[in-house]
Amino acid sequence: MSDVNLDGAIATDALIVGAGPAGLFQIFELGLLGIKAHIVDSLKAPGGQCTELYPDKPIYDIPALPICGAQELVDRLVQQAKPFGAEYHLGQEVSVVKPLPDQAFYVETSVGTRFVARTVIIAAGVGSFQPRKLGAEGSEGFEGSHIHYKVQNAAAYHGKDLVIFGGGDSALDWVLDFAGKAKSVTLVHRRAEFRGAPASATKAMQLVAAGKIRFVEGVAEAVLAEGSTFKGVRIKGNDSALTELSADQLLVFFGLHPKLGPIAEWGLGIDKRAILVDTEKFQTNIPGIFAVGDINTYPGKKKLILSGFHEAALAAFAVAGLLNPNKKVHLQYTTTSPVMQKRLGVGGA
Ligand code: FAD
Repeated sequence: MSDVNLDGAIATDALIVGAGPAGLFQIFELGLLGIKAHIVDSLKAPGGQCTELYPDKPIYDIPALPICGAQELVDRLVQQAKPFGAEYHLGQEVSVVKPLPDQAFYVETSVGTRFVARTVIIAAGVGSFQPRKLGAEGSEGFEGSHIHYKVQNAAAYHGKDLVIFGGGDSALDWVLDFAGKAKSVTLVHRRAEFRGAPASATKAMQLVAAGKIRFVEGVAEAVLAEGSTFKGVRIKGNDSALTELSADQLLVFFGLHPKLGPIAEWGLGIDKRAILVDTEKFQTNIPGIFAVGDINTYPGKKKLILSGFHEAALAAFAVAGLLNPNKKVHLQYTTTSPVMQKRLGVGGA
């Protein structure tokens, strides 16, 4: 392939896209069959929807666990997969998957990590989580320079006039963190009730009462600019009153929403934002690319964690068959197989 540079790319038998419950269990199932994986996720921590959307909620339909916290489930899956030494590449989105000759794929991430993978297992859930945008008139030109959706280097905001948007924990935590360090902090939320921890909301309102920070109820209507120079933001209140806030930087914490993202461009059969697979191998229309968990679809599909577990087990057998076409993949029990127990590090041969 002329348009990709394979020099220095990481060679792997299996590359898993997505570290939600399905991707994490995929590491385990591949590991039992002696296959080491690399796993990539656009989020900074493994866990997918469980960690990102409902870490503290209890789950009641995981077999043999009558009740299990969502984050607890993720922690258990990470621990269970640990013996197989998968390498995690977090905080980077898989942007490119291209077939190479001789049953391999070129895979590239948003930060330039490159792989040559013999098989790819897509466990991308409902897609990449993307930050909800500010959506104010004129904001596009200032995204990344003056409008930010995460704090990469907190010190860079010290001594600046900041406007922080949102009513959840991220917005409140950063308001409390920057109060006293930034030149000024203004919190903007569409109403006076907050989704974040009540203690944080109370602290923030105490700072407002003490005149240390400002609170404005409303939504961003337009960015204020003089030519290409960023000046601040105009807020429209619930009573339609307009407030102009001078600012150096805007920090926006409206949460994340899922997007299929680059997966749509990899030549896979897709139906209603999900990847079509067979139910024997959970293989896509491209041999060597599999899809497990919420991202796939087939007749009767149910988007449940336990479906992803089953799919990961069968996909692992298919991956093993593809990597070693001349070797039969035998079913073995972890209770009795010395080979599997050795791989698990629990004794055996
Ligand atoms: P996800 O958990 O969505 O993980 C996919 C991961 O892939 C994400 O981390 C994402 O960042 C990553 N990703 C996507 N695209 C890329 C890319 N291009 N590059 C890199 N990374 C990428 N299910 C149950 O069985 N029982 C329940 O009780 C239950 N309760 C739920 C409660 C709530 C509030 C919600 C929202 C869901 C619930 N679910 C429940 C559903 C369950 O969470 C999902 O079925 C499960 O998370 C799917 O796992 P997954 O690994 O397929 O995908």
